[in-house]
Amino acid sequence: MTRVLWWVQKGVPHPMKNPAIREKVMKTKKRLYAEGKIIPWNKGIPCTEETRRKISETLKGKPLSEETKRKLSEVRKGKPKSEEWRKNISRGQLGRCSSEKTRKKIGEASKKRWQNTEYRERLSSIRKTWVGSKSPRWKGGRIPYGPNWCGQRRMAIERDNHTCQFCGTPENGREHVVHHIVPFREFGLDRCEEANNLSNLITLCNHCHLPVETGKIVIANLGLKEFAGEFG
Ligand SMILES: [Zn+2]
Repeated sequence: MTRVLWWVQKGVPHPMKNPAIREKVMKTKKRLYAEGKIIPWNKGIPCTEETRRKISETLKGKPLSEETKRKLSEVRKGKPKSEEWRKNISRGQLGRCSSEKTRKKIGEASKKRWQNTEYRERLSSIRKTWVGSKSPRWKGGRIPYGPNWCGQRRMAIERDNHTCQFCGTPENGREHVVHHIVPFREFGLDRCEEANNLSNLITLCNHCHLPVETGKIVIANLGLKEFAGEFG
């Protein structure tokens, strides 16, 4: 899903100013929270006196519309400073900043966010999947797959007739990807000869390569060994 901040454009009103859109967004958000699809970053962080003071300080001097005031007072009735109310306020403040003071506060909030173990673990698990050598897009390093890689790669493409071995699409102006059936990291640079053996290489188009890397398509290492005997 691509999210575009289209309301940032001049002359286009912020969509949240449209009551219909706002209601829809809030409904969706509420549902996602209820289903546990969104975890609030401040989950598990007790709201301290300090935070409460800061929130009220931030709110001081902010002109509130009559409607907001009415709504706030309504919400406050009966459940003063409930967890939900505090969350709503703090969320409402995010993204509104411009002053030095506010920016500083946002920085503090992000520091606090980082202190939340749950949030940090979630982020780091995402990073572990996508960053560095584990990323399917990784091409870093001068000889990422060892000194024999370039030659072996070329031979694999020639063997496969410049055609994706999964969907059969021939190359069209753009070179296909040569994929390690058993991932290169299983061998490491020390055993790059084995990793880059033609029996372990297969030509794939860009379209098919990503689902293969993410495990959505599994390429079985079958039938390629005979082929490799001919070339390697
Ligand atoms: Zn393909």
